[in-house]
Amino acid sequence: MCGIVGYVGPRDCADVLVSALTKLEYRGYDSAGIAVFENGKIEVAKTKGRLADLTEKMEKEGKPQGHAGIGHTRWATHGEPSDINSHPHSGRRVTIVHNGIIENYKQLKQFLIENDRTEFLSDTDTEVVAQLLDFYYEGDPIRCIRRTLHELRGSFALGIVFADRPETVYAVRCESPLIVGQGQDEVFIASDVPAIIKYTKEYYLLEQGEIAILKNGSVDFCTLHGRKLKKELLFADWDEDSAEKGGYPHYMLKEIHEQPTAVKTTVTPRIEDGLPDLSECGIIFGTLRNLKNIFIVACGTAMHAGMVGKYVIEKLARVPVTVDIASEFRYRDPLLTHDDLIIIISQSGETADSKAVLSLAKSRGAKTLAIVNVKGSSIAREADMVIYTHAGPEIAVASTKAYMVQLAVMYLFAFETALDKGKLEEKECRRLTAALLKMPDVIEKTIDKVMDMCQYVSWICASMFPPS
Ligand code: GLU
Repeated sequence: MCGIVGYVGPRDCADVLVSALTKLEYRGYDSAGIAVFENGKIEVAKTKGRLADLTEKMEKEGKPQGHAGIGHTRWATHGEPSDINSHPHSGRRVTIVHNGIIENYKQLKQFLIENDRTEFLSDTDTEVVAQLLDFYYEGDPIRCIRRTLHELRGSFALGIVFADRPETVYAVRCESPLIVGQGQDEVFIASDVPAIIKYTKEYYLLEQGEIAILKNGSVDFCTLHGRKLKKELLFADWDEDSAEKGGYPHYMLKEIHEQPTAVKTTVTPRIEDGLPDLSECGIIFGTLRNLKNIFIVACGTAMHAGMVGKYVIEKLARVPVTVDIASEFRYRDPLLTHDDLIIIISQSGETADSKAVLSLAKSRGAKTLAIVNVKGSSIAREADMVIYTHAGPEIAVASTKAYMVQLAVMYLFAFETALDKGKLEEKECRRLTAALLKMPDVIEKTIDKVMDMCQYVSWICASMFPPS
């Protein structure tokens, strides 16, 4: 998912932020923005699109001039990619960039509205955090961050600036990664090492529950209760290319290791009180009750996720499921009725054959559900219901994490359908849902075991066939 950066030092802040974000482009993004202290005031520049679009906008409308600020490339999860939804987001005195998902943002928004905080401009979960920080801010940033974090559920890394704390950047994280780079009289925050490696190879790993305060070219760390921390300075012995892959030799291995987080971020927000809740995807109780047939249509890897889905849905919900390859489906003149559901699975949400199937299904009056990874993509926009997978961008051609989250969604969907159709007792559904919630841990342990085994095998090979 997206990238966060921050800078405090003598260089032109906007230039550093954009250049650091460029190094995080490999993570994928749909919009970009920065906030910089200019003469003691926070100036924001942001836009939907590429970093080149942001640079062009700043050339036309003026680039914020200053030496401290935060920047962001967004991979939309809440609200479509648009100028307004782009980060940074602000409350009255607080501006933030955010990587991740706030699971309870709806409840928090409700709480803020009830407390007369109604100025929401965007559809993002992030803006709720900015407003909440602002709500709790009484002049003590650490206290305000602590109170806010106490309320947040989900995974997040935040870069924060307070209007009355000029030239200072605060950073904090929960689950989503964040590092702090230490250069000569300058400091950085970033989601990943490649962003800063051009400037410094020395960095700190920010741990959960720690706050970094960047000021005057150096960084202080403290706990959420303000107790000072001494942290170990690490050295990134990587060149720029390997740094982009997070130190892994290739993207596929990196993405294999990202599977537990991807599954967790996809599943956890869709569980309410121990049961699946797909209401934010447009699937409310009753929607699936009268389904007669389900057609899962997809291409390649996504179709294989659908084939597993067929087993689970048929077994639990007792509805006939047909799996079709999207390129063939429309040529077999399928029989579709109003009581049928077409599920389109597509990582990108732009797969041409799958798009054609969606149009056909709609023209025949069938209900449509998209399972896609890219927010605001064509398939997501056109389908009646959408379940977003939150795998983040997948760069390796051989799919790993995107496939894994598609499987997780197939299970969630099967549970919800079975429950809705009265084919699954609530107690049994709770048991299955709890098992699904354990998946990230199980995947992590499995990956560790496989990696150990690979090392062992390569050790055996090296001993059997020593280089001559
Ligand atoms: N959930 C936030 C949004 O949709 C942040 C997404 C990200 O990590 O880029 O704006």
